[in-house]
Amino acid sequence: MKIIDNKGAPPELIRVAVHEAEVCNTVNTIIFDAFIKDLNGDKGAFAPETGTLIIDMGACILDTAWMKRGFMVIANAWFNLLMTVYHEMAHAAQLDEEPELMSLDVLPEHYEEEATRTAGLAVLNWADEHETVPTLNELGWVGDQLKILLNKLYTEMPEVVDEELDLEGTNMVAYAQEGAESSREYNSAEEIAVLLKQIDDGVIGKKVGEKRYLTAYEAIGIQLNP
Ligand SMILES: [Zn+2]
Repeated sequence: MKIIDNKGAPPELIRVAVHEAEVCNTVNTIIFDAFIKDLNGDKGAFAPETGTLIIDMGACILDTAWMKRGFMVIANAWFNLLMTVYHEMAHAAQLDEEPELMSLDVLPEHYEEEATRTAGLAVLNWADEHETVPTLNELGWVGDQLKILLNKLYTEMPEVVDEELDLEGTNMVAYAQEGAESSREYNSAEEIAVLLKQIDDGVIGKKVGEKRYLTAYEAIGIQLNP
């Protein structure tokens, strides 16, 4: 297994990628880089002909997909990175199981959906096994970029940045209200009210001041549940 780390990837991300690649015969090189021209903004890719899995950490920072699900800035970047590793690994596994897929330029949609589903469950499992998301200082190059981003953001939204830094290293990673509103599990104001009450009662999540948060495991879980 060859690791090419051109920027300084988060150690935990490298650990996960190497661990996943060890059970997959089709991956022999993993490249961590950022803003790779050939990827055209995609967060990752797997090149079966060379067995190379590529993670674009720059694209992972810029994608706000998890923020739209209530996740905070650091958690958004982290789960984009993790999701991308698991998603591309899922493609590598698909090609390992069905080598005839290698002749296709683009995988059929079914394989995309399967990779995303597999990655979602893997990310949920990671969140179950890890109490907290890596801190800025544990995120290598990504952490450095996020510090620059948060510094810029501070002039416009100091309270958002303060909140982000206050909760850094804790298990509170997502805004409960926004997370529930964007989820498939909570479909009405009444249902969301039940969730918020559970947080107030200390059953799940956590209330800090007047704000209610979910852990990564809870916030990812409500996105995956049908
Ligand atoms: Zn894909």
